[in-house]
Amino acid sequence: MAPLPPGSRIGILGGGQLGRMLALAAAPLGFRCHVFGPEAAPPAAQVVEAVTIADYLDEAALGTFAGSVDVVTLEFENVPAACLEFLAERVPVRPGARALATAQDRLVEKDFANSVGATTAPYAAVDSLDDLKGAMPRIGPRAVLKTRRLGYDGKGQVMLEQGADLDQAWQALGGAASILEGYIPFDGEISVIAARALDGTIATYPPIANHHRNHILDRSVVPADLDTRQVGRAVAIATDLATALDYVGVLAVEMFVVDDELLVNEIAPRVHNSGHWSIEGAVTSQFEQHIRAICGLPLGAMALLGRVEMQNLIGDDVGRVPGLLAEPGAHVHLYGKTAVRPGRKMGHVTRVIPWNAVP
Ligand code: AMP
Repeated sequence: MAPLPPGSRIGILGGGQLGRMLALAAAPLGFRCHVFGPEAAPPAAQVVEAVTIADYLDEAALGTFAGSVDVVTLEFENVPAACLEFLAERVPVRPGARALATAQDRLVEKDFANSVGATTAPYAAVDSLDDLKGAMPRIGPRAVLKTRRLGYDGKGQVMLEQGADLDQAWQALGGAASILEGYIPFDGEISVIAARALDGTIATYPPIANHHRNHILDRSVVPADLDTRQVGRAVAIATDLATALDYVGVLAVEMFVVDDELLVNEIAPRVHNSGHWSIEGAVTSQFEQHIRAICGLPLGAMALLGRVEMQNLIGDDVGRVPGLLAEPGAHVHLYGKTAVRPGRKMGHVTRVIPWNAVP
């Protein structure tokens, strides 16, 4: 349980912007990073000491990687279980395989959330068209059909209104194992980002309000406009989930706010887009917290430095960067991606209104 000394090497599975920002946070603490993933020239490669471009199931490459690092973490939750098992026999993997397996499968995730006393939308497992037809009268009339695995940013899901063509919906998801969820007419969407250290200490940021555009996170504002009871409940849910998973690192829990209730939608076993504001807006960023936790170091303080807003720069939004750079106090982050595509997260901008200037 001794903390990793400065100079230790952190292996990161996945090389996207989350890995890039993790590596940038690891450097001031004296750690070196080694990214492993299948993508050629990933964004994180520009800022790390070493990169291995290989398939997640390439055992020869994984063996060399495991031998060259002191701890392994991830920035991408859909790493195959066999990859984590292989690595875990050779080097500590944080967070562990159980947290990953829970978050990778929407059915397991919802069963788990309910088992620790959190509430979710009503749901049913759907493995066939007959299951879908049988579940619709119980879960509907409005419902969302989602693949159990590999969905993100609204991909792998179909909204079903009353009288929807169920055959077509089932085909749209390619007949993949799915769940049917009741449609939640939510008042808002929030997330709670929690950090859990190796010794079990937990800290969280206040709940974050998230606004989506085309199913992709557009804007996050913290603190979310919730009453004290809701804040306490949201933080307790995230804390309970992290504890029950014996989690190490940063975890994000997305929830729907509906009337007086909070319903867990998704658990992300990693740093999260809705926490990017913490780089400038909190005493310790989510990226530094994650590095501290996985290296066995004490957590930093998670207090906010003001009212903070983060705006994603998606696709062509990146053209706004020159103007944003001319705006005093706008913190611009670019992820080093050369190809601009619609829906692609190119960067973000954070604005902090210090407490003494909040209207
Ligand atoms: P997910 O991939 O589960 O995070 O869903 C992406 C987005 O779709 C969410 O952030 C919501 O805006 C919306 N959504 C997902 N599930 C539901 C639901 N059961 N009811 C209403 N909206 C939903």
